[in-house]
Amino acid sequence: MNEQSNALSVDGPVFRPEDGGYDEERTGYQLLSPHRAAVIVGATSAEDVRAAVAYAAGNGLKVAVQASGHGLAGALEGGVLITTGRMSGVRVDPAARTAWIEAGAKWEQVVAAAAPHGLAPPAGSAPSVGAVSYTLGGGVGLLARRHGFAADHVRRFEIVTADGRLREVTAESDPDLFWALRGGGGNFGAVTGVEIGLFPVESVYAGVLHFDVGQVPDVLDGWRRWTATVPEETTSGVAMLVYPHLPMIPEPLRGRHVAQIQIFHLGTPEDGERLVEPLRALGPLMRDSLRERPLAEAGEAFEEPVRPHAYRSDNRLVTGLSPAALAGLVKAAGPSAPVMCVVGLRHLGGALARPPADPGPVGHRDAAYLVSVLSPVEPGEERTARDLHREALAPFEDAALGRSLNFAFGPLDEDQVRTAYAPGDYRRLTELKARYDGGVLFHANHAIPPR
Ligand SMILES: Cc1cc2nc3c(=O)[nH]c(=O)nc-3n(C[C@H](O)[C@H](O)[C@H](O)COP(=O)(O)OP(=O)(O)OC[C@H]3O[C@@H](n4cnc5c(N)ncnc54)[C@H](O)[C@@H]3O)c2cc1C
Repeated sequence: MNEQSNALSVDGPVFRPEDGGYDEERTGYQLLSPHRAAVIVGATSAEDVRAAVAYAAGNGLKVAVQASGHGLAGALEGGVLITTGRMSGVRVDPAARTAWIEAGAKWEQVVAAAAPHGLAPPAGSAPSVGAVSYTLGGGVGLLARRHGFAADHVRRFEIVTADGRLREVTAESDPDLFWALRGGGGNFGAVTGVEIGLFPVESVYAGVLHFDVGQVPDVLDGWRRWTATVPEETTSGVAMLVYPHLPMIPEPLRGRHVAQIQIFHLGTPEDGERLVEPLRALGPLMRDSLRERPLAEAGEAFEEPVRPHAYRSDNRLVTGLSPAALAGLVKAAGPSAPVMCVVGLRHLGGALARPPADPGPVGHRDAAYLVSVLSPVEPGEERTARDLHREALAPFEDAALGRSLNFAFGPLDEDQVRTAYAPGDYRRLTELKARYDGGVLFHANHAIPPR
């Protein structure tokens, strides 16, 4: 069919490559290889999303959906890009302890809407990440060890499927699609909103301990030993990097190899202080931001980077961390690495390891830790970064169960995507892809092919 027989009629703005604003609209947090769509629809409503999907399907065009652009998994060439940033509404029902989250809302907006009610969402460590996309990939957040994956708390989705229908999807209405959306990513349609559970939270003790790796070489192993002692109320991670010599980096950090232990504890400051004593005793601290935090500010506790940049990463979900593997990681990703490398470790387990009565396809729930390596890259450095990530992750392969797709930034091939799921779940996902999007209208995801 030609464009004329399927005209595009939406309330939101429409951008084509020659239009002013096209580049701003397609560019999100990830700056490497942005989408090069023939048409961008800046959706303002579920109806806009429906019209954009129907327009693409009617004209034989592919579709990609972008919220804040943290998780760009490959660029759409031509086709229709639906940007959801204008759909950022959040409606909290304090009595039901739920939030209705529109497709483009960031976690910071959900946290801000829930906090006045003493409630917290299953938000991630970076406030500017899109809540819906994060949840479609499972979602391992600040409350993860206490409350599990974000996807486990979804009550209802609203989605436009490849047939152009706007559907409400619950466990009762469409059990298969409801299952697939809780971990299968953006492969099954354009989600326009999600209803998700919230948790009562009384007190948060959170922040970051900064260590100079040169002075405390076994800081990662010290954290690993400490994680074996903490309750489920404590979720923590480590970010380790060599800070570049750049003017925007605070002077004391420039050029230093730093391990930042990130802690989010659901409890009183007294509890928290006691809990972190063994960490503070690991060695001299460069900085200590641990303190009681108001719920509304809790999302900033992990001090994630906020400036858009170009990056690639890979990761492994592992059953354990050996001291030797951690020592290898410190070396491979340290000052002699050919490109800058940000190591990320997350302590999993707790509620993450206990599937709900009706789980989705989120894989490897029995993983004890996530190990990720990320590099800011300039065009042309991708291969160097890939080789470095492979080398840095090699010591963990013996303990590896697979990958987390949420923490894999950049394109993955079919075999790599498959590693995120149990074999039976992957098969079911491919069958449901065939049922709901057999023509692969929805592109630029960590792709699950139709079978
Ligand atoms: C700094 C940083 C911190 C992070 N922290 C965490 C964390 O703590 N826990 C965690 O689990 N993950 C984390 N992530 C990963 C993040 O959850 C995923 O990358 C997520 O997909 C990003 O969503 P987005 O909306 O920000 O990105 P986008 O790039 O806008 O979206 C990512 C993908 O989701 C799909 N998608 C987006 N919107 C829709 C929609 N409405 N319908 C269907 N599909 C859609 C598309 O495939 C899209 O390519 C982090 C990422 C970064 C960069």
